Amino acid sequence: MIQVLEPATAEVMAQVPKAGIEETDAAVARAKEAFPAWRGVSPGDRSALLHRLANALEEKVDELARLEARNAGKPISDARGEMGMVVETFRYYAGAPERNTGRTIPVAGGVDMTFREPLGVVGLITPWNFPLTIAGWKLGPALAAGNTVVLKPAELTPLTALEFERIALAAGIPEGVVNVVAGPGSVCGQRLVEHPDVAKIAFTGSTEVGRRIAAGAAETIKRVTLELGGKSANIVYADADLERAATAAPSAVFGNAGQDCCARSRILVERSAIDRFMEVLEEAVEAIRVGDPLDESTEMGPLISEGQRETVSSFVPDDAPVAIRGEAPDGPGFWFPPTVLCPVDNDDRAAREEIFGPVAAVIPFRDEEEAIRLANDTIYGLSGSVWTRDGAKAIRTARAMETGVVSINSNTSVRVSTPFGGFKQSGYGRELGPDALDHYSEVKNVYYATES
Ligand code: NDP
Repeated sequence: MIQVLEPATAEVMAQVPKAGIEETDAAVARAKEAFPAWRGVSPGDRSALLHRLANALEEKVDELARLEARNAGKPISDARGEMGMVVETFRYYAGAPERNTGRTIPVAGGVDMTFREPLGVVGLITPWNFPLTIAGWKLGPALAAGNTVVLKPAELTPLTALEFERIALAAGIPEGVVNVVAGPGSVCGQRLVEHPDVAKIAFTGSTEVGRRIAAGAAETIKRVTLELGGKSANIVYADADLERAATAAPSAVFGNAGQDCCARSRILVERSAIDRFMEVLEEAVEAIRVGDPLDESTEMGPLISEGQRETVSSFVPDDAPVAIRGEAPDGPGFWFPPTVLCPVDNDDRAAREEIFGPVAAVIPFRDEEEAIRLANDTIYGLSGSVWTRDGAKAIRTARAMETGVVSINSNTSVRVSTPFGGFKQSGYGRELGPDALDHYSEVKNVYYATES
């Protein structure tokens, strides 16, 4: 059995049968059997089924949000927003089957036409930080493109995925099209990677496991998309609206208790503005309400596990330059206070490694050239921000940043209708928007001879 913990209390909230190799193989076999019929469903009917699924999820938003808030330790208001995004993701991709068209290309002696064919059985391996949201980013385009799926959620947070499987079936998605296996990554996840009947793996998680998945998938030439770690830069120029930039900075690092691959955990501030920036930042950090995830006014919950708390603590040793430290509850639960380190050198460990906790590093810079050099001096490239009132400088900086997603005068990274994904060791492939669909299908080229 998997003992599922509630991070705010450190108590067991549910027990779930633990899947192993046998259950994973059975799930792949069910998905393989269901594939021909699912791919044969007409685009209009597939679209209607995905709309029904979106409606069924919408009816359960509050229930799912509560489950996710308790199991992942995230504030209920955030969890509700995330479940809303899951609904929106299915609505968006419900429109895709009928738009998934090919091209006709005139050639000598005939005509070529292209079709987008589904891949078959797709393995989805997802993390514990945004459990159902990230699963939805993969499920939506995978199902819309005509694939069947085996979803392996993180062992720490399997509950909403298991609930999703029930909702999908009740909404009329045929049996075998969506299969969830809750079990350890090193067993069930690895089996999906090795399984000859799995055509593709879509993974979100650590760069270390992503590397292992890419290597394992090479054996059967599986398609792979990887959304991995980040160490994103939030560049604040002195000519920015400093109040806005500093007030917005905490939620960009401390949202989801910092357990966010998009966390702008390196805050790069132009030297001449650093005093004013830190003043406003301090007020904003001290105002963050850390506490019970089920309290509507809570803005930050606990970390996911004791192990994660130990890892995060290791980035704040006794001699760390702690400039700001917020509040966190005592007692049971995996709490850690929002913490800002300043000044940090870009070569320090806190600036180089993904902390995945509420610890921000403030790094001063001299000019535009140095800001860009520091921002890019990392193995990662997932997201980032630029704050300035100079439009040309904003665009220059955004274009120069080696990262998949950049926001100007904002810290948002993810929208259902726009592509999201990384450069460098943050992974490859894109989720969301029209681009994701391409990663769940192959182009087939059919030649029709018109001359005898
Ligand atoms: P992992 O990368 O280990 O886990 C992500 C998913 O991969 C989980 O479902 C996990 O299963 C599964 N998995 C683990 N090992 C294998 C394997 N050998 N083959 C196939 N699947 C596998 O992340 P962690 O949970 O261990 O977190 C560690 C660190 O990773 C964090 O501190 C953070 O830095 C980073 N991370 C980044 C995320 C992102 O969004 N980019 C998300 C999560 C973590 P299971 O957990 O059930 O064993």
